Amino acid sequence: MTQDAERLFAVEVVERLRAAGHQALWAGGCVRDLLLGGQPADYDVATSATPKQVRQLFGHRRTLPVGVSFGVVLVLAPKKAGGDVEVATFRTDSTYSDGRRPDAVTFSTAKEDAQRRDFTINGMFFDPLSEEVIDYVDGQRDLKRGLIRAIGNADERIAEDKLRMLRAVRFAARFGFEIEAETWAAVSRHARQVAVVSGERIAVEIRKTLGTQRAPWALDRWHTSGLLRSILPEVAEHWESIGDVTLKLLRELLGAPWPSQMSGLLCPVVETGTRDIPELIASLKTRLKLSNEESESLRFAVASQSMLSKARQLPWSQVQPGLIHPHIDVALSLLAARNAAAGVRPEDMDWLLSQLALPPETLDPKPLLDGSDLIEIGLRPGPKFRGLLDRVRAMQLDGQLADRGAALRWVRQFVATD
Ligand code: ATP
Ligand code: MG
Repeated sequence: MTQDAERLFAVEVVERLRAAGHQALWAGGCVRDLLLGGQPADYDVATSATPKQVRQLFGHRRTLPVGVSFGVVLVLAPKKAGGDVEVATFRTDSTYSDGRRPDAVTFSTAKEDAQRRDFTINGMFFDPLSEEVIDYVDGQRDLKRGLIRAIGNADERIAEDKLRMLRAVRFAARFGFEIEAETWAAVSRHARQVAVVSGERIAVEIRKTLGTQRAPWALDRWHTSGLLRSILPEVAEHWESIGDVTLKLLRELLGAPWPSQMSGLLCPVVETGTRDIPELIASLKTRLKLSNEESESLRFAVASQSMLSKARQLPWSQVQPGLIHPHIDVALSLLAARNAAAGVRPEDMDWLLSQLALPPETLDPKPLLDGSDLIEIGLRPGPKFRGLLDRVRAMQLDGQLADRGAALRWVRQFVATD
């Protein structure tokens, strides 16, 4: 759906609710983004209608009950190309005994609904029919001043949902805002308790925050508030010695894909020599629930740095397997950032790129031999096969075996003298 079509559909949802006698307004992030002059990523509607009424009005086939206990129904856009609108009943959240989610919600009014939202800039409504902003929380003032301010008592709001600490830093980083003093003090006071937030949610916040233009600023805030100790303890632990270089690296990795940025956070930790790479990656993977592919890209990126930075001095057989690794792009962007941060001239990088640009059959030629060749010359299959084939492959890559015949002669001679 085009942005105009998305907007039109979000207006239509409000119109239909109004026509049925309910209150309905755009709410939260989309209002903020409109007031900042940007295009909202999606539109959320807040309404006096109950979830049941919303589903009856739009039809069960055109709605999805995504969070009915919280009063949230997704109204599906006409075409399946995005633009669905989340319709949430005005509500008041009760106590939060787990530090993350309210124990119960009560349906209420727009004014009360604003109070349960996290920050003033996220707590406004917009009437798309009259084009009026409805602002019970002075969100417009903070938007003008560039401030992230908790709605109501900062200490209580942060205490009830610990995820808000990470959201505060993220929104400040995204919009280039400051965090208002009381809110910041509350974040610093409760920072350690961010540990009650699930690894998945922390990972989402880390990803989104690193994706902003002020990722290095955010990293510094994570550190000064104490959040870093809980979200990336491996980095926090060595901050005194690696903080500066880590910030520098992250500056060089602005806008880079997430795995490159994350490898930039891990590389200085590895360079302290205090952590074993597989163990470091495994603990990160478990904690943040990373996929196999993500953790492998991080592992390879950090583990290949010493090889890549001296690649020209190494035998080709030690370099080539790295260059054909599926995550070589992550490793190279990390290498480029390290070079830039250290002020090193990128000659090695040019060479690596020229090798990568070789035709596939030159960069990764077919192996001269495989297991069946060894069987054919009378060897019994066994654990030694792998080592033997690896040696043949290395000699092939290093130009010591010209063809299959030479490879077979070498194997025969080798087993005869072994
Ligand atoms: P984004 O562009 O990142 O989606 P957003 O403001 O839309 O920003 P969402 O996480 O989609 O953020 O949440 C939508 C709205 O719900 C927020 O604007 C805010 O009003 C409210 N909200 C979301 N998470 C919380 C929370 N943890 N505590 C209180 N209010 C929240
Ligand atoms: Mg949103």
